[in-house]
Amino acid sequence: MATAIVQWIDSDYCPEGAEKMRNEPDKVDWVRVMPFVILHLGCFGILWVGVSAFAAWAAVFLYFIRMFAVTGIHHRYFSHKTYSTSRAGQFFLALWAGTTVQRGSLWWAYHHRHHHQHSDEEEDAHSPHVHGFLWSHIGWITSRRNFPTDYSKVKDLAKYPELVWLNRFDLVVPIAYAFSMYGLGALLERYAPGLGTNGWQMLVWGFFVSTTALFHGTACINSMAHLMGKRRYNTTDDSRNSFILAIICLGEGWHNNHHRYQSCTRNGFYWWEIDPTYYGLKLLSYTGLIWGLKSVPQSILDEGMRADHAKSVAASERAEEVHGNTSLRQVLPAAAAIAVATATAAHAELPKKADGPAIHKDLSSELVKPNNPAAPDSGDRVI
Ligand SMILES: [Zn+2]
Ligand SMILES: [Zn+2]
Repeated sequence: MATAIVQWIDSDYCPEGAEKMRNEPDKVDWVRVMPFVILHLGCFGILWVGVSAFAAWAAVFLYFIRMFAVTGIHHRYFSHKTYSTSRAGQFFLALWAGTTVQRGSLWWAYHHRHHHQHSDEEEDAHSPHVHGFLWSHIGWITSRRNFPTDYSKVKDLAKYPELVWLNRFDLVVPIAYAFSMYGLGALLERYAPGLGTNGWQMLVWGFFVSTTALFHGTACINSMAHLMGKRRYNTTDDSRNSFILAIICLGEGWHNNHHRYQSCTRNGFYWWEIDPTYYGLKLLSYTGLIWGLKSVPQSILDEGMRADHAKSVAASERAEEVHGNTSLRQVLPAAAAIAVATATAAHAELPKKADGPAIHKDLSSELVKPNNPAAPDSGDRVI
């Protein structure tokens, strides 16, 4: 309990040894869960602080600006190094990524690299196929074994003490971010009262609501990107491409593409695969903050096109097969219906045919007996 509380402040504090901790069985550590509970409970603050258009739009804006940090910085820079920056630029990016409240960049990168190494295997910390949906979405973060950062797996990042410090004290930036939200709201209340916001309202909307949504949006990649969508590349895991997840996570939904080739800056490999993170990084590259964005190799693009083509041919063949069967299914009952109708109609005519001779007989009897007083007038006139 005491260890868990100290770890809230110093995430490298592991008196029993990080390696021992990593070998513990998966289990929810309830003390470590508290920050998550507080984050979610904070959203209920809207009942007290109310809402203003400014605060609500700020929450949306801060969601996307920080989702960009999750995908463009934690993922595409620290985890995969798909572009370059200076040491100062890297520190700035780490601060930006720190506002996402998703632990330090080294912890994030270590776990993500581990995910790529063991995707959908027993070792994968957040595979929905191995551990179930809820565990892959949120449970895995609460487990003690996933708490320490394995610095030996991120040596390229661990050589920068400023990054290690931010990673170790990973609450510093989130707390500064929360205070800045309160400060911004207090300033707006004083200098722009027409906006109708204040410190507490901005803290609730800009920090608690926006960060909780950001957490769940990001977690959808862990829990759903291996369940929902289509597989273009035949990777060894069950990663998928999903347009919906690409919108929620600014391009990360093209997860199957990414599992096939992780070293490029874009996850949407083709122009029609929307990838806002890539567009943002491209814009940032014009400022000189980052450079050396890596493109998708032509061989990977060709492989994807071939796979798409093969799938569309297979789909059209299946459709034809189904259509053929459908035609037969439609033709056979129709033919049967006609046959039944004909037979029924023929049967229905039988009494009429039986009546026929009776009429004929009547007429004949009139013909042979022209003077029959009972004969109808019409009969006489017809003859
Ligand atoms: Zn994955
Ligand atoms: Zn990745």
